Amino acid sequence: SYPKIMGYRIKDELGNGSFGYCFVAQREADNEILALKQFRREHLDSDCVAKEMDLLMGLNHTNIVKYYGHAFDSNNMLCLLMEYCQGGDLNKYIERKFKDGSFITEEFIWKAFHQLVLALRECHSRNRFGRIILHRDLKPANVFFDKDMNVKLGDFGSSRMLPFNRDTTATFAGTLFYMSPEQMSYAPYDEKCDIWSLGCTVHEMCVRKPTFFGLTDVDVAAKIRNANYPTLPDKYSIDLRRAISSMLQLLPNDRCSIEQLAACPLMQRNISREK
Ligand code: ADP
Ligand code: MG
Repeated sequence: SYPKIMGYRIKDELGNGSFGYCFVAQREADNEILALKQFRREHLDSDCVAKEMDLLMGLNHTNIVKYYGHAFDSNNMLCLLMEYCQGGDLNKYIERKFKDGSFITEEFIWKAFHQLVLALRECHSRNRFGRIILHRDLKPANVFFDKDMNVKLGDFGSSRMLPFNRDTTATFAGTLFYMSPEQMSYAPYDEKCDIWSLGCTVHEMCVRKPTFFGLTDVDVAAKIRNANYPTLPDKYSIDLRRAISSMLQLLPNDRCSIEQLAACPLMQRNISREK
């Protein structure tokens, strides 16, 4: 049954995630529609959740899912309140395209790609405490859309802050499909891992199936280690191919940074088509 929360009307169920259920909620005070993520008790590590909430509160960007705060339902379960993304998520969007045998237009791919770059740039630039945020679980299922199909990067549940001295973190937090080669070798995680995952996400928009696909983890890992991924369908430009290749470089040092991506001529000349 739907949760009961003072001040909110629960309208619909959005889906079942790894930590609990998501719902559409209406705030009674102003009738605003929000998304509500309920945490199942067994998953509640209050330190961890408090950290996540702090981190989310600090992110204010039009291409990042806005986090509004938290509340407790009538069973005292923690619920996070956030911006509702009416356009759904990129994973479902890709699945839909695949099912009707159509391709995402190049124009749409550049637009979503650019907005993801802006979102990630916000995370990867130092906040007023000199820290950066790593998403660590960037994949199509965590890319949402508003009603006008603008990108909202979300699900920062696996994110971590990196302190100024660049302590890196070697914990694994993501699915194998989108995991960088250095992460697979248990090397420390830094911003370049998010760039790899961004490359996988943009590539998947073109081919409509995970970039490094295999039936077993061993197969997937072997493909990642060799950066062995399918070439784009002919309909996509050389520019798009080159941009993807700059993100899917095996060595983190060879991989472009988010600033380089934002400023690169490939991006600049392709997003100008937008308006
Ligand atoms: P997971 O834990 O597997 O990542 P989530 O709890 O993030 O799953 O999401 C569960 C479902 O709710 C998914 O179908 C997702 O698309 C949807 N969803 C999550 N957050 C939002 C949101 N802010 N707006 C719209 N739909 C959302
Ligand atoms: Mg998710």
